[in-house]
Amino acid sequence: MVLVLLASAGFSQQPRFRVLAFYSTSVEQDHVDFALQAIPFFAQLAIRDGFEFKATADLNDMNSEVLKQYQVVMWLDDAPSTAAQRTAFEEYMEHGGGWFGFHIAGWMDSRKSWPWFADFLGTLFYGNSWPPLPGKLTVDDPKHPAVKGVPAKFLSPLNEWYSWDPDPRKTPGVKVLMTLAPSNYPIGFKDTLEGGDIPVTWTNTKYRMLYTNMGHGNRIFTSPQQNRFFESALLWLGRQSTSPGGRAPAR
Ligand code: ZN
Repeated sequence: MVLVLLASAGFSQQPRFRVLAFYSTSVEQDHVDFALQAIPFFAQLAIRDGFEFKATADLNDMNSEVLKQYQVVMWLDDAPSTAAQRTAFEEYMEHGGGWFGFHIAGWMDSRKSWPWFADFLGTLFYGNSWPPLPGKLTVDDPKHPAVKGVPAKFLSPLNEWYSWDPDPRKTPGVKVLMTLAPSNYPIGFKDTLEGGDIPVTWTNTKYRMLYTNMGHGNRIFTSPQQNRFFESALLWLGRQSTSPGGRAPAR
């Protein structure tokens, strides 16, 4: 009976939503390692949860003809660099597209590089910890659907952690979902984050988007609690799109 239901969900129904993950194999090796583990992880979730998942290493797929076929775009270890790619992404997001960004996807230390993206993310990169270490995380709003099933506190596996300026929590429209617990500090040896308020996961509620700082190295998928977060977050993003098989309607 279970097999029949799985087959039904997988083959005879339309996928709930479609996801396109962008990745690169020519960036920092720790980020490639994450991306190459993320692809089979999300492909497996797609079978279980009834969505469609594809990955591309070609950033030129960041164009309106391709993007309009997907309800969620992921940036696993890279970001668009050309004006055409960036404009296509801006238009996609401004018209109801979905985005799930990991780790290096939020790395931009000057607003001048791409002002639209600084406003979209709600902050800029400020500093980082080194070497990668586990982080104690606090879930800010356990009732939020993007963290459904995730305990209020859990230990995130080895990751390089970023700090931000301004604090995204103070950016209008940003809702913080996870934060590095104060008991972590100081975190790092070569590069240290000394303390303060350092959000790890948030959404800019003006968009259908979620950024999370996890995504460095080959240990990211070793935590069942964190894996549950990745699943809940993606389902939350995907289910908000109301037009399966096509572009989400303009807001
Ligand atoms: Zn990193």
